[in-house]
Amino acid sequence: MLKYQYYPITVPDRGAGGKTGNWRVVRPLVNKSKCIGCKACFMFCPEDTIKIDESDGKVYVDYDYCKGCGVCSNVCPVKAIEMVSEA
Ligand code: SF4
Ligand code: SF4
Repeated sequence: MLKYQYYPITVPDRGAGGKTGNWRVVRPLVNKSKCIGCKACFMFCPEDTIKIDESDGKVYVDYDYCKGCGVCSNVCPVKAIEMVSEA
């Protein structure tokens, strides 16, 4: 059996690659009226840039570190996150 340190577990780290700057092509927009607060986007974001709004349990995005990968949009069960162009 593998020892703990060899398990293939990844842990997201907020903006591990630094601030995104101006190279992001698309950004996620959360439609709070659709969001059901399931936190799937929060769990799968590789940059740890989905944040939980304590006032309503729904989510918002820290755009300083979001890389625009679209993972959050893909995992949302109610399609509450739309990827929109930065242009
Ligand atoms: S687009 Fe990618 S980096 Fe940005 S919030 Fe969604 S999952 Fe996280
Ligand atoms: S995955 Fe969708 S429904 Fe779930 S918290 Fe994120 S935006 Fe809301």
